[in-house]
Amino acid sequence: MGVVQQVEKAIQEREEWVLRRQKGIPNNKRLFVLTCMDERVNIEEALGLQPGDAHIFRNAGGLVTDDVIRSAALTTNFFGTKEIIVVTHTECGMMLKNGKEIVEALQAKLGIDLSHIHLDPSLPELALKDPKAIARWFRTFEDVDEITVAQVELLRNHPLIPRDVTVTGYIYEVETGRLRRPFEILSRRVNSHAEMVGDA
Ligand SMILES: [Zn+2]
Repeated sequence: MGVVQQVEKAIQEREEWVLRRQKGIPNNKRLFVLTCMDERVNIEEALGLQPGDAHIFRNAGGLVTDDVIRSAALTTNFFGTKEIIVVTHTECGMMLKNGKEIVEALQAKLGIDLSHIHLDPSLPELALKDPKAIARWFRTFEDVDEITVAQVELLRNHPLIPRDVTVTGYIYEVETGRLRRPFEILSRRVNSHAEMVGDA
């Protein structure tokens, strides 16, 4: 390739990169990823993602919140995304008995009543009907496998996510640095007789 062709190709690629949304060009993998903000979850490495490959949404727990629905609805309906992957992880900080302890700790720390705060200061209309629901708003969980399946179902069944979008959930094992399917814990199958013979 001549230099001019090389430069022209680079300009073309740059233009397509910059104007992706205007031109309706999806991300490379047509993928939306929801995962935890935890710094130990190396999501790009775990999924083999390069820059440009996916829309990645990270929050505490990698759980489906209103802004996850908002972002997933936009990317699947308008930006060509066809696949959603939810990645939770072991030893997550949101693995707590319930959100009440977070509410109580925050109220004690900040000296405010959390039951009537604006969840989104730019949208005061977004309010919980039941002030006690603030504990649920923090979205804690006790079992990482169960919560992963539940997040997949929430996205699959949401009216703002098109039916033809596939939703899959995995758990990132911090201890191995690998992904696994919910409820398929290999270390159990190699460490316990009950699991090996399948009568666990
Ligand atoms: Zn986490």
